[in-house]
Order: sequence, then C-alpha cells, then structure tokens
Amino acid sequence: MDIEPIYPKTMTCTLCRHTFQTSRVRSRFVRVTGYDSDFRPNYKQLEANPIYYNVAVCPSCGYSFTDDFIPTFAPHTRHQLEQILSTNWTPRDFGGKRSASDAIETYKLAILTARLKEEKALPIAGLALRLAWIYRELNDEANEQRFLRVARDYYMTAYSEGDHEGTLMSEVRVIYMIAELSWRIGDREEAIRNFSRVIEAQNSTTDQKVVDFAKERWQAIREEK
Ligand SMILES: [Zn+2]
Repeated sequence: MDIEPIYPKTMTCTLCRHTFQTSRVRSRFVRVTGYDSDFRPNYKQLEANPIYYNVAVCPSCGYSFTDDFIPTFAPHTRHQLEQILSTNWTPRDFGGKRSASDAIETYKLAILTARLKEEKALPIAGLALRLAWIYRELNDEANEQRFLRVARDYYMTAYSEGDHEGTLMSEVRVIYMIAELSWRIGDREEAIRNFSRVIEAQNSTTDQKVVDFAKERWQAIREEK
C-alpha cells in the first residue's frame, strides 16, 4: 500500500471546542535542499508543501490557528473573535488536500484570527511571511510584496517589544528579517541600517547563517553603489 504524503491530524478548536481534522505532511516526504535569503525552504521533489498545512481552520467557527498560537484568550478577545469571525463564518472544511489558493485563504484567516486574538507580533510576522512565500511560488509579485511588507512591519514591532525572548528565534535573526524584507520591498535605508547591525553582531551571535546572508547582501549593496 502506498503511503500518502499527507495524513489527518485531529484537532480541537480552542475557541468553540469543536473537534475536526486537519492535514499534515509526513516528514519523510519533505527534503530541504536550501533556503532563499529570507529563509523560505527550497524543497526537492515536493508532493505536498508543508507550508500549505501549517494553519488549522475550525470548520465550525472559522477560528484559524497554528502551533505558535497561545491556547488561552483574554475575555475581550474571545468576544471579538465570536462577534467578528464566527458570526460571519460560513461552514467550510479545509481538511484533506490543499491547493495554493486554499493555503492562501488559510493564512489570511489565521492573520485575521491572530489580530482579533491579539497574538504577539512575531507569530503574525511569520504568517505574513509564509503567505508571501506562497505568492512567490505563484510568481504573483504584487501580492508577494504586499505581504513581505506586512511581515516586515510586524517584525519591527516584534523587535521593539522583545517578542523573540523565550522563543527559538534569536534577536539577531529578527533584525536580519527586518533588513532582508526591507531590502526586498525596496526600503534601502531600513535595510542598510539593519544589515549593518547584523554584521556588527557577528562575534556575539551563534546564528552564523544570518551573518553569512547579511554579508552577501552587504557585498551586493557595496557593488551597486
Ligand atoms: Zn471552532
């Protein structure tokens, strides 16, 4: 019997407690061969893109979340979610296989959910970045740029609020993301300021990959002048 690249995972909606199934990609089907300079993974012979399956969408109320979401609610955010998201939700199931456009919808729902739930800026930046990556795959440059900018702005908020503390993401990586996304959206000034901060941190960080990426960009910027 052939093993499918995706498998169902049972989830419980944090908002309405409905139980439903979402799909995940088996790790044996995922081989990363490298990364774009904003850490988008490049996959080899991809049968199911794991990025498409990050977001679980409750078919009953529309609450859309990832493993990065905090499982509890402030009372007013629960109310906001029920009033704005759930009452306008038409039951829809994102289980099974997802197309790129399904995945795009799930990310937009997750960004809306995260805003209403008042999640920290860092996970919202990650959602916007992944959404931009899906548009990159589709060669939809206008939407890619739009969501790279959303991600960049959230990374700036995340940095000023110290959201990375207690996460796997280093401070220098947050600064690098601000630099790289600024570069990609044509905000040279913000890009140059932050790339230089990454390079200044080269002896104090263990995140060598971002230092290497920043040096490559720095070289390109110097050659351009
Ligand atoms: Zn629900």
